[in-house]
Amino acid sequence: AQPVTTLATQASADLFERARTVTPGGVNSPVRAFNAVGGTPRFIRSAKGAWLTDVDGNDYVDLICSWGPMLLGHAHPEVQAAVADAVARGTSYGTPTVPEVELAEEMVARTPVEKIRFVSSGTEATMSAIRLARGFTGRDVVVKFAGCYHGHVDALLASAGSGLATFAVPGTPGVPASSTELTLVLPYNDRQAVLDVFAEHGSRIACVITEAAAGNMGVVPPEPGFNQFLAQTCRENGALFVSDEVMTGFRASKEGQWGLDGKVEGWVPDLVTFGKVMGGGFPAAAFGGRADVMASLSPEGPVYQAGTLSGNPVATTAGLTTLRLATDEVYAHIGSAADVIKTAASEALTAAGVTHTVQSTGTMFSVFFCEGPVKDFADASRTDSAAYKAFFHSMLDSGVYLPPSAYEAWFLSSAHDDRAVQHVLDALPAAARAAAAA
Ligand code: PMP
Repeated sequence: AQPVTTLATQASADLFERARTVTPGGVNSPVRAFNAVGGTPRFIRSAKGAWLTDVDGNDYVDLICSWGPMLLGHAHPEVQAAVADAVARGTSYGTPTVPEVELAEEMVARTPVEKIRFVSSGTEATMSAIRLARGFTGRDVVVKFAGCYHGHVDALLASAGSGLATFAVPGTPGVPASSTELTLVLPYNDRQAVLDVFAEHGSRIACVITEAAAGNMGVVPPEPGFNQFLAQTCRENGALFVSDEVMTGFRASKEGQWGLDGKVEGWVPDLVTFGKVMGGGFPAAAFGGRADVMASLSPEGPVYQAGTLSGNPVATTAGLTTLRLATDEVYAHIGSAADVIKTAASEALTAAGVTHTVQSTGTMFSVFFCEGPVKDFADASRTDSAAYKAFFHSMLDSGVYLPPSAYEAWFLSSAHDDRAVQHVLDALPAAARAAAAA
C-alpha cells in the first residue's frame, strides 16, 4: 500500500513518472527512490540553510544534508560567493590550479595524511587507495568488513564467503567472481576474525579497509581501540591500514573520526579516503596518506591513477571555503543540535513503546529500530524496517526529510538553528506513535 500523505505531491509524482521513463528507477542513486520506505520521492527545487523546498512548494527540515556534505547548510552565502567567483573565471582547465593546492594544504593540516590526490567521488577514492595499497605492497588481498560501504568498487561489492577466512563472492550481479576472489569480508568490530585471517593469509594481505566509524549500516562506532588494533595488526604484517573517512571526514569532528581516536591514541592510518564535506556540495573526493606510499602514485611512481576533472577548480573552491568556515564553533553547534534531537527522538520512541537504540560517533548519529548495542551488520539487520517506514512517512508529512532508509545516519548542519530543531522535535511524538502502530 502507498503511504498516505496530507501534502500536495502531484508535481513530484509527475516528475518521478517522467524520470522513470528515461532513468532506471527514476533516480541517479538507488536509495533516493524510496524503495525501502515506499511512496514518492520529493523532487527538490531549492534549498536554503536547514530547509529543502520541493516542486510542490512543501518545506522540509533536511536531515539528509546530501548524505553528509552540507556541513554548513544549503546555499551558504560565503560558499556561494566563492563558487560564483570561481565559475566566473572558467570551470575546468585540465591544468594545475591554485584552489587544489590550498585545499590539499588545508586537509594535510587537519588530518594525519602527508600527501593528497584529488578525485571526483568516494568510489574513485577507495578504488584508487586499494590499487595503491596493492601496488605499494606487491600483494593482492583486501580485507573489508560486512556493513561497511566504500562505494561501488567491484572488489568491495563483496559478500562474505562460506567461512570467515574464505574469500568473498560478488555482492551484486555484474561483478565477476574474479573481482571478489581476492577480498575477505569479516564481521565489524571482531578482532579475533582479523587475527584469524592474518594467521591464514597474512603474507598476501595488501590492506585492511574500514569505514573509520561505520555510517552505512546506521552509525556503528568502532569499539574502543578497534581502529588502533587494525593499524597495529596491519603494521606487524606488512599490510596497509586504509581508513575510509568519506563520510566521517570533517563531519564526525573537525579532524574526522581520526580526531576522536587516532589522534588521542597516537597512531595514524597509512591511507585515508575522503569525500562529501571536503567537496562542499560538489563532486570532489580524495585519498591521501604516508608520503612514501603516495610516492608510488603516477607520475611520481609506477601506480597509475588519473582523472579529467580531478581537483576541479570550482569543486575545490567550494570544499576549501567550506573547510575554512568549519570552525570549532560549527562542530560544537552541530554536536549540541544532534544531542537535542537524539534525546528527543529517544524520549518520543520510549513514550510510544518503540524498541530503539541511538548510537553516535562525534557529531554523527543514527536511530536503530531494534535493541542495542549494535556492534556489527548482523546486529544492524535486526532493525524493524516496517516501524522505520511508518516513522519516516509521519516525519515527512510533518515537514522533516529523513534518509529514506533505516540504515543511515541523520545529518545536521550549522544552519540547523532553534527553529529547525524545534520543527523536528514537534514532529517526533506522532512519528513515534506511527512506528508503534506499524
Ligand atoms: N565510502 C563511504 C564511507 C561512503 O559513505 C561513501 C558514500 N556514501 C563512499 C565511500 C562512496 O562515495 P561516493 O558515493 O561519492 O562514490
